[in-house]
Amino acid sequence: MSTANASAGMSDEHVQIRESVRDFANREVVPIAAELDNKGAEIPMALVKKMSELGYFGLIFSPEYGGSGLDTLSMAIVAEELSRAWLSVGSVMTRMIITASLVQANGTEEQKRKWLPGLCTGEILAAAAFTEPDAGSDSAGIKCRAVRRGDVYEVRGEKTWCTWANQAHVLCTTVVTNPEAPKKHNRLSLLLIPKTPGDAFHPPQLAGSPIPTIGYKGMHSYSLQFDGYTAPAENLLGGVEGKGFYQLMSTYEIARIQTAARAVGVAQGAFDAALKYAQERTQFGKPIADFQVIGHKLAHMATQIEAGRQLTYHSARMKDTGKRCDLEAGMAKAFCAEMAEHVTSEAMQIFGGYGYSREFPAQRFWRDARVFKIFEGTSEIQYEVIAKRLLET
Ligand SMILES: Cc1cc2nc3c(=O)[nH]c(=O)nc-3n(C[C@H](O)[C@H](O)[C@H](O)COP(=O)(O)OP(=O)(O)OC[C@H]3O[C@@H](n4cnc5c(N)ncnc54)[C@H](O)[C@@H]3O)c2cc1C
Repeated sequence: MSTANASAGMSDEHVQIRESVRDFANREVVPIAAELDNKGAEIPMALVKKMSELGYFGLIFSPEYGGSGLDTLSMAIVAEELSRAWLSVGSVMTRMIITASLVQANGTEEQKRKWLPGLCTGEILAAAAFTEPDAGSDSAGIKCRAVRRGDVYEVRGEKTWCTWANQAHVLCTTVVTNPEAPKKHNRLSLLLIPKTPGDAFHPPQLAGSPIPTIGYKGMHSYSLQFDGYTAPAENLLGGVEGKGFYQLMSTYEIARIQTAARAVGVAQGAFDAALKYAQERTQFGKPIADFQVIGHKLAHMATQIEAGRQLTYHSARMKDTGKRCDLEAGMAKAFCAEMAEHVTSEAMQIFGGYGYSREFPAQRFWRDARVFKIFEGTSEIQYEVIAKRLLET
């Protein structure tokens, strides 16, 4: 039995969404994940097209702008089920969700009409360019500069870890527009920087090179150098300079819920593989699942996954009531990141020596799971946020 069948508190619609996404992932993703991961090859764009046709990128956005108007829990379920098959596939939607959330919450009416329909359908693919070589957790400490010259902004500076920058039509980028602002948080703006998709970028104004990684192989993360690359001034989010940091903060809750859901999915994928293997592998004349220590390992893994899932769904439900949920989303993200690292490691242990082999799936889940404690706000930053909320008077 798999705990991913858990449906407590879910509507029929949520159950149907889970079933249909699981069916899609089993058919389209599971058969290719291991081979592409081993080659370090990116997700095929034909698969991305199928996901866009199924509406996975526009799930939570207003129908007025081309979205499906579904709730945050639906988005979490989709992210979980895709990541259960392959984290990289569950992470494609993250980029459109972050960018479209930013536009929906902070864009001018004209910007919403220009960007949201394409982001929802996947005609516009996005990447998030926030991190810089010297500014990661300290996201307000960036240096990448955008200077207005007539109808355009000229951008100079560096970004790093911009995942999927090559495939993107638009880079959702934090830039410094107001260097003299007394508070560093007021120096920033968000600029939607268009580019042509492809590995070549636009040197010398925009150069990019992939960063070699241990996991997350289906999407490549890029170092980017801007040297006078221009973006239309009308692409400044909200049309007013100096608001970028606060605009970015408005997406933290949704991004953390989506990331927690991806972690639940990866852990579930590893658990499913380990459960099957434990029932098939015999030692000392019986399946290893019959050894109490292995059975208890599986029980502990399943319990941890379910706890993470319920914390994630709880945050999603809170988000849908319109209540502030940075505490719950931070807890879900932090818990699920650690849970996924532990569960995937235990899955490898159940596979014994084969767990260390690239011919078996356990190591892929483990390599992928390690990133959850790092991106979308490190675990240390999540605990900072949680502690601050707990200590609020
Ligand atoms: C595979 C991958 C994909 C990524 N994709 C993207 C992307 O698409 N777009 C994007 O913009 N970024 C992306 N990132 C970047 C990611 O968000 C950053 O790596 C992350 O925010 C941490 O920043 P940093 O690497 O500069 O580490 P640092 O901020 O330098 O942190 C180093 C260590 O110090 C700790 N630390 C820092 N500040 C504090 C503090 N105040 N209190 C306690 N501890 C602290 C951190 O928790 C960490 O352990 C990606 C990263 C990876 C690995």
